[in-house]
Amino acid sequence: MTTQVPAILKDSADAPFRQGLVERRDLRPDDVRIDIAYAGICHSDIHTVREEWGPCIFPIVTGHEIAGVVSEIGSEVTKFKVGDHVGVGCLVDSCGECDYCVKGSENFCEKGAVGTYNSKNYDGEIAQGGYSQQIIVTERFVLRIPDAISLEVAAPLLCAGITLYTPLKRWGAGPGKKVAIVGMGGLGHMGVKIAAAMGADVTVISQTMSKEEDGRAFGAVDYRATEDGSVFKELRNSFDLIVCTVSADLPLDKYLGMVKPFGALVLVGLPEKPQNFQVFSLIMGDKVLTGSNIGGIPITQEMLDFCAEHDIAPTVETISADEVDAAYDRVVASKVRYRFVIDTSTIAPE
Ligand code: NAP
Ligand code: ZN
Repeated sequence: MTTQVPAILKDSADAPFRQGLVERRDLRPDDVRIDIAYAGICHSDIHTVREEWGPCIFPIVTGHEIAGVVSEIGSEVTKFKVGDHVGVGCLVDSCGECDYCVKGSENFCEKGAVGTYNSKNYDGEIAQGGYSQQIIVTERFVLRIPDAISLEVAAPLLCAGITLYTPLKRWGAGPGKKVAIVGMGGLGHMGVKIAAAMGADVTVISQTMSKEEDGRAFGAVDYRATEDGSVFKELRNSFDLIVCTVSADLPLDKYLGMVKPFGALVLVGLPEKPQNFQVFSLIMGDKVLTGSNIGGIPITQEMLDFCAEHDIAPTVETISADEVDAAYDRVVASKVRYRFVIDTSTIAPE
């Protein structure tokens, strides 16, 4: 017998969200049932349901920043017990056997990892995400939330946190390194906090100066706005690493110009359309232009522990189930401060 669980659903790209029920499978031996407390709103949820990246499987329950409490475990579960604080991010399954899975890069599973929503499980069941009061996930994809991090602020770490932690670590953010974070929204503000905690010298590059005070409070030592076009000239060859969280079309050559020779520009924002750049912008400085995709399970746990140890957490605005449409509009208008988190206890289907 499956379980019907209160959830926030969308029936088409144009339809508003509605509160209803979503079906959850029976607990398998390796499964964990999680009573979800909070679910973050990632811009990827918006791209997906508005079909900006391609067709979406409707009706959908989005949400891949999930924090809650274990309420039941399958007979073979060893990592978790009832009452544990746990999280789930963008993935809920992978083959577990290919080289990538074995090395903890489950996001690049050769069989294709199963996304938390808008995806099919290996048995054909449609995966439904975290804007819901419960989810069932194999224990391999469940993360432990350290006691120092409350569930309300833990949720956004499961996507925004890991998406910035991975490239900052890989490309060496740390003492003596100059790092710029482009776009200070959900991902970007976590990038500022994490890069500062790693010991880097952090600059925010935003569209305007309106969030300067917050950026400096998050740990940035400099804050610049692109509306003043002189920034590209002034900061030429300045950064060892730039991580760009923007999903709009940007003049990549100008951003590459701000990277120091041998440095890297890492794209994590996901624009709808192809982007252009001059190869000269790379060659005149042996620069790297690359991307970064969330992170596998081991590095996600490492990131959660890092945030607990360094006392950093997302800055959130908690909303109720009937405020999701309005929250989406605010995210799209760059008016989010800095991540919306849904209190799932407010979901009340009629
Ligand atoms: P968000 O909260 O909307 O933040 C994006 C920020 O980009 C905005 O706050 C804004 O910052 C800036 N921005 C928006 N429109 C812009 C424009 N036209 N020109 C220049 N800057 C603009 O979104 P998010 O949740 O952080 O997600 C950001 C992107 O990352 C999305 O495309 C999302 O799908 C993607 N993503 C990727 C991964 C991955 O694995 N690579 C994981 C999660 C999300 P300012 O106001 O400071 O300018
Ligand atoms: Zn996300």
